[in-house]
Amino acid sequence: MPPPQDHASQATSNFDQVDCVFCAGREGEVTLKRPKFVVRRCPQCAVMWCDPLRFSDAFNPDDEAAYIETPDALDGENEDRVAILTHAAPPATHPKVLEVGCMHGDFLLRAAKEGYEGRGLDLSQTAVDHAAKVSPGLVSYGTLDAHVPDASVNVVAAFNVIEHMDAPHEFLSHARRVLRPGGILILETPRQESIYHHVMFGRGRVFANKRAVDIGIYPGTHIFKFGNRAWRRILADRKFEVTSSRGKSTPLSQLFAKRRPSFVERAAIVSFGLLAKMTRLENRLILTARRTP
Ligand SMILES: [Zn+2]
Repeated sequence: MPPPQDHASQATSNFDQVDCVFCAGREGEVTLKRPKFVVRRCPQCAVMWCDPLRFSDAFNPDDEAAYIETPDALDGENEDRVAILTHAAPPATHPKVLEVGCMHGDFLLRAAKEGYEGRGLDLSQTAVDHAAKVSPGLVSYGTLDAHVPDASVNVVAAFNVIEHMDAPHEFLSHARRVLRPGGILILETPRQESIYHHVMFGRGRVFANKRAVDIGIYPGTHIFKFGNRAWRRILADRKFEVTSSRGKSTPLSQLFAKRRPSFVERAAIVSFGLLAKMTRLENRLILTARRTP
């Protein structure tokens, strides 16, 4: 996540979001106040979001480039993700996989070895151009919207993507539409029920007036924060049945690639990582859900 910048917040922002986008009409309670924005939480489905959602139209999909600078971590993550894919949606019955926010398409290439026919979408032109050289036709510029035909795929996957969207509810509507009956949705997102989350929000409360304190959620970057409870409610409302749900930690090499922490910060990050593993309260959640008829 890029460091918070000193944007001018406008009282009449187009990006103000008081109501929960998942349970229409519900006003989110303010759970944390920051100098430039608030974090709201839906009393009904428990999802959290930034209000405003973002400060401006400026959008740089290459901000996330640090994720692809650690190929070892990525290989390990793709092994885990493919294991979850083959378990939830075997290639014999679920051959067509669409990955949204797929960067270079590494997960899809790994899945192809198991017999899947993958296709990826990304909003980073740099990533699309790179993928075109390595595996032509695999990755297209775009996102999951009306251009993807109804009932055209068996699996929709999005790893660490949906929390960046202004309208994740529209993504879920399209996911349901493009999946064939019995199709599988695989999502990975940051998680509220984690030690990391509570530490970050504790910091946000202690340093209530300090703009630069990272709380793990920020307008225009990590806009939404989900969790076990939120996903179960949101997906059930959209006729998806959660078939598996597992905590996982961000690989340390990714955390260290994004910034250069001091020794003390490194030690803290490693300690929290170990504690999270021991308590099974890791900072991310990866889940699979089946589209019910
Ligand atoms: Zn809600």
